[in-house]
Amino acid sequence: MTERFIPLIDQRFGSLSAGVPAQPIRATGLLSDSLGRSLRDLRISVTDRCNFRCGYCMPKEVFDKDHTYLPHSALLSFEEITRIARQFVAHGVGKIRLTGGEPLLRKNIEDLIEQLAALRTVEGRPLDLTLTTNGSLLARKARALKAAGLQRVTISLDGLDDAVFRRMNDVDFPVAAVLEGIDAAHQAGLGPIKINMVVKRGTNEREILPMARHFKGTGIVLRFIEYMDVGATNGWRMDEVLPSAEVVKLIHAQLPLAQLEPSAPGETAERWRYADGAGEIGVISSVTQAFCGDCNRARLSTEGQLYLCLFATQGHDLRSLVRGLNGGPGASDEQLASAIGRIWQGRSDRYSQLRGSMAPDDSDGRRRVEMSYIGG
Ligand code: SAM
Ligand code: SF4
Ligand code: SF4
Repeated sequence: MTERFIPLIDQRFGSLSAGVPAQPIRATGLLSDSLGRSLRDLRISVTDRCNFRCGYCMPKEVFDKDHTYLPHSALLSFEEITRIARQFVAHGVGKIRLTGGEPLLRKNIEDLIEQLAALRTVEGRPLDLTLTTNGSLLARKARALKAAGLQRVTISLDGLDDAVFRRMNDVDFPVAAVLEGIDAAHQAGLGPIKINMVVKRGTNEREILPMARHFKGTGIVLRFIEYMDVGATNGWRMDEVLPSAEVVKLIHAQLPLAQLEPSAPGETAERWRYADGAGEIGVISSVTQAFCGDCNRARLSTEGQLYLCLFATQGHDLRSLVRGLNGGPGASDEQLASAIGRIWQGRSDRYSQLRGSMAPDDSDGRRRVEMSYIGG
């Protein structure tokens, strides 16, 4: 008789089991990793699907009609996400960002926002609860998101020129609809709004100045992100990276800038203000200037894998811990907190600092996790 194996876990990338340590690790809000970095920021991916096909993230040739997405049963439920998030908050997380794929594609996302908005930090404050979106569904959803308790949004927008924008999202989506979404977010009070623009040399660097001019003086903070070597599918090349220093130089020549202090430890963006007082911009230099030294971010994938770095090849399987394995009982809240505590204490990731001395796939052939799977 042939044996039939039913995989319990549909995991896209390498996974480590998340064990419960024999000695409990209590959540005191003071956790630090092996390099002395605190845990402050949790990014939760709520779907691996997207209605865009940005070449730097989900290239059409790879994410085509034959690509299989996670089945619904593999996704963490909203209750599971909230339960896990609660333990992260007890360990000191004060900021939660929902992401994806495109987070607004997850059905009833407002219900999750409502549950997360009820959490309180170790100091008893509401969380800084935000969401990163491509903006395509914002015009329709902004008010409901605000009503559910979302505080603010970051919207990705890679250019104002309609032809450039359609080419970059690669599904012919018009820029006007995203601009409407930004307006709707503003009207709904989902601020301060941030705009993320990934800059790819040879593709959209001509959009830098028009974007800066468009958002200058609006209270919206435009941030320029260096094109990163995340995942294993975007065919990244260093010569397509436009260093942030060049972006700043280009803008400064037309619209004078002065550098600002970072507003919070672990902040990824370097901040610059317009000399005439008309607001600020940010640059995120993940490639040319590593900021691993104070990286306080953890990432939870759609199916409950905990990733300690954007460039990780393996996650820690929290879903099995929460659901229990082979019909066994799931972990208690204390056990879950201990497991998370131990994983964070063992963290030594600092990919961006080590970039250059590493191969695109690590030595035992494991594939780097995709950005659309764990979010930005
Ligand atoms: N779909 C949503 C969006 O686009 O805002 C949320 C998920 S997306 C993966 C999160 C952020 O990652 C976006 O701002 C996107 O521009 C950025 N991103 C994706 N791939 C990138 C890459 N290779 N380099 C730099 N940023 C990237
Ligand atoms: Fe989708 Fe966002 Fe990735 Fe673009 S960057 S393909 S919008 S998940
Ligand atoms: Fe954090 Fe990893 Fe990025 Fe360094 S490379 S800043 S450790 S996510």
